[in-house]
Amino acid sequence: MAHLPFDQLEGEIWYDGAFVPWADAKLHVLSHGLHYASSVFEGERAYGGEVFKLDEHTQRLHDSASILGFEIPYDAETINAATRELLTRMKLVDAYVRPVAWRGSEMMGVSAQHNTIHLAIAAWEWPSYFKPEERLKGIRLDMAKYRRPDPATAPCRSKAAGLYMICTLSKHEAERQGYADALMLDWRGQVAEATGANVFFIKDGKIHTPTPDCFLDGITRRTVIDLAKRRGFEVIERAIQPDEMAEFEACFLTGTAAEVTPVSEIGPYSFQVDAISRTLMEDYHAEVQPQAAAKVAAAG
Ligand code: PMP
Repeated sequence: MAHLPFDQLEGEIWYDGAFVPWADAKLHVLSHGLHYASSVFEGERAYGGEVFKLDEHTQRLHDSASILGFEIPYDAETINAATRELLTRMKLVDAYVRPVAWRGSEMMGVSAQHNTIHLAIAAWEWPSYFKPEERLKGIRLDMAKYRRPDPATAPCRSKAAGLYMICTLSKHEAERQGYADALMLDWRGQVAEATGANVFFIKDGKIHTPTPDCFLDGITRRTVIDLAKRRGFEVIERAIQPDEMAEFEACFLTGTAAEVTPVSEIGPYSFQVDAISRTLMEDYHAEVQPQAAAKVAAAG
């Protein structure tokens, strides 16, 4: 492995209300969150020292916990202040921020009614490389074997650790075959999303994306839809069948980590990296810069 394992980085982690040395941010092996996946998290990016859409991420963290039946014992103001202070103390400018909440150890069985809820926030450097020429090659996706579950079988609106089991399996299988990622269908067999990013398609100048009724409605997804509409592009949210991919001209993924990443292949289907994808890639890059967000706010 080229880099240090994450438990060996240096700095501080905000843990249950206080900043602790990185090496001390531990939990006991008998934690409900580990055994029963009673854990929710966020993935955030700081650009130029500010987390992009921090309020929305913190809101989703609270919502994710509430969907899993627990309440994070820190309000949004506390979480946001802790996040900002963490970036300052760690001297981070362009960074990834990972809050995670989980049920503790008081009960160790399926029922965990009285377990304490813990929250930790870690951050590490994540340079904001913007090399459009590299991304313009597009990434290759495999078709995943696993499907996004029916909302009747899983709490699919929560960014819950347990929902990532099939994502890791799908991504590993794709990587074994030389692909960058995998496209997952949903329980009905409709196009859903990649293992950690939402998906968009382009045809005849219009943008199509699956309705997020059984997977995460990403914060980046919503941002990119707004950016596309500001440009006057039509965005159609609808059910998308896999065989429609034969007719789509372009495809890209969106996510906090992926930003806007063009896709050149999904299984048997291939795509061009078109002008709309390129425009949205650049618009997103401009949007995440802290001064850009302030400009839009000032313009009302
Ligand atoms: N779907 C999944 C499964 C994800 O893990 C992510 C990344 N959080 C997304 C979609 C995109 O969400 P966001 O744009 O809020 O990062």
